Amino acid sequence: MIADYTTWLSDVRSAVDSMNMRMDAWQERWPFDFEQEYKKGTNPNAAAEKANRYWWHEQNKAINQNCLKTPDCWLPRNHSGDCQPVAG
Ligand SMILES: [Zn+2]
Repeated sequence: MIADYTTWLSDVRSAVDSMNMRMDAWQERWPFDFEQEYKKGTNPNAAAEKANRYWWHEQNKAINQNCLKTPDCWLPRNHSGDCQPVAG
């Protein structure tokens, strides 16, 4: 049994903080479905990483800097190395 949603989300928030990301600001702009991740039993660190990829992907698209090689790659345009899918 995993923690209740509030506890789980506060662990996610800590993980997001540790990436120097501001969860509230990102959520306001591009809401990530944390509740769904919670229901799927995703652990807080994995959920934070997934949200991070999702936010960067949305941001890259918004500023027209999304990767053109793979549609669901969250890395910036002309990145080095392999593409990384948002849902990866
Ligand atoms: Zn790519």
